[in-house]
Amino acid sequence: MPDVIVRVSSAEQISRIMRFANLEKIPVTPRGAATGLSGGCLTVNGGISLVMVDMNRIIGINPVDLLAEVEAGVITIDVDKAASKYGLFYPPDPGSLKTSTIGGNIAENAGGLRGLKYGVTKDYVNALEVVLPTGEIINTGTKTVKSVVGYNLVDLMVGSEGTLGIVTKAVLGLLPAPPARASILATFADMLDAAKTVRDIVAAGVITATLEFVDNVTINAIEDYLKVGLDRSIGAMLLIEVDGQQGAVDIEAAVVTGVCNDNGALSCKQATSDEERNKLWAARRAALSSLARIKPSTILEDATVPRSRIVELIEAVKSIAKKYDIMIGTFGHAGDGNLHPTILTDLRDSVEEAKVEKVIEEIFIETIKLDGTLSGEHGIGITKAKYLKLEISEDAYQLMKRIKKAFDPNNILNPGKMFLT
Ligand SMILES: Cc1cc2nc3c(=O)[nH]c(=O)nc-3n(C[C@H](O)[C@H](O)[C@H](O)COP(=O)(O)OP(=O)(O)OC[C@H]3O[C@@H](n4cnc5c(N)ncnc54)[C@H](O)[C@@H]3O)c2cc1C
Repeated sequence: MPDVIVRVSSAEQISRIMRFANLEKIPVTPRGAATGLSGGCLTVNGGISLVMVDMNRIIGINPVDLLAEVEAGVITIDVDKAASKYGLFYPPDPGSLKTSTIGGNIAENAGGLRGLKYGVTKDYVNALEVVLPTGEIINTGTKTVKSVVGYNLVDLMVGSEGTLGIVTKAVLGLLPAPPARASILATFADMLDAAKTVRDIVAAGVITATLEFVDNVTINAIEDYLKVGLDRSIGAMLLIEVDGQQGAVDIEAAVVTGVCNDNGALSCKQATSDEERNKLWAARRAALSSLARIKPSTILEDATVPRSRIVELIEAVKSIAKKYDIMIGTFGHAGDGNLHPTILTDLRDSVEEAKVEKVIEEIFIETIKLDGTLSGEHGIGITKAKYLKLEISEDAYQLMKRIKKAFDPNNILNPGKMFLT
């Protein structure tokens, strides 16, 4: 539990808090909407929980420079809504976009369903206002398309999990909204056929806006929860969206359909109305909440591999689940090679707990063997800190610690995250 909760409303206020905390060596943990999935906003050492949600102003949209200037506590979807008034959109769309904040997205370098074609948060952060752990307020980055001036502190801040500074304002990139799109639902008897399809769609030269994978366990969980009419008997489904100019969309949708059929799809249907499309995406966005209803404990992992190795990752997760006789639902941004094997268990049972530890470790070891990474989008936080050195060399680890010390000499900002020692 935090000792104090402070709802902040300006960079100047945060600066005064940080100067005081740095002097008195009080831990401070920034908190957005608390939807993070690696424990980043938890006050593991007590101290101050710095709540950002009142800093929720959209300062302005510039439709010529394609930029939005916002405070860090703005809810992700509100940036998109503000941009849509100008025919623009904000591409990063985490499943939590109706709740998560831009500050939290920047801290975790959040991805989303549109990541394959449009990239992730880091691709849209142009400039930042940041309060340093020692209290100084800095502005870094520019509103220009290009800039090569000094070290790239913007990119260092993105994905730093609230350990290097507190983001108070951001200048974000926007794009013109695509005029047309097609959503396709493809079903497969065997989940490996679905995984092969993911690989083959990109190999066929189509970069879809979204390419999401949902396995049988997750399909059944969604159906129990939402009753949207998904076929419970299939091995897996792919939710695919292509967007752009109408002519290009028609061609790409035809290529995608062909690849699905070549891989033995049981069905491959295009949504015929916005209502049908929205129902499909609502079902996908409910995957985690649906799985979470099955057992008392839900552990969502974030393994990510090069797209060409996705079939091997799915096979590995399947055989680990079998080996340990544990329920794992897998869904995720398959086009990005980013899957969320979700372990459904009861951590009150110590035998189960020990088993889960082994399952997680094996998933990570397999992921690294496949040239993958421990986290595609959820960060290290507390949950993956002990695995960090599976991926990062001792020298790189020590360099990261020296960077942390340069920003935060007294280790008061979000201590206990990312690094175990
Ligand atoms: C149902 C569900 C679906 C999700 N889907 C996705 C998804 O598709 N893609 C994805 O990437 N993630 C997803 N997430 C995870 C989560 O939503 C993201 O990590 C999100 O970016 C967290 O934002 P938040 O505002 O909730 O941050 P919090 O959880 O409050 O904080 C996350 C981290 O950011 C730090 N932080 C918060 N605000 C600031 C700030 N202003 N300055 C510096 N540090 C700050 C915190 O200290 C913490 O370390 C999902 C979560 C849920 C519950």
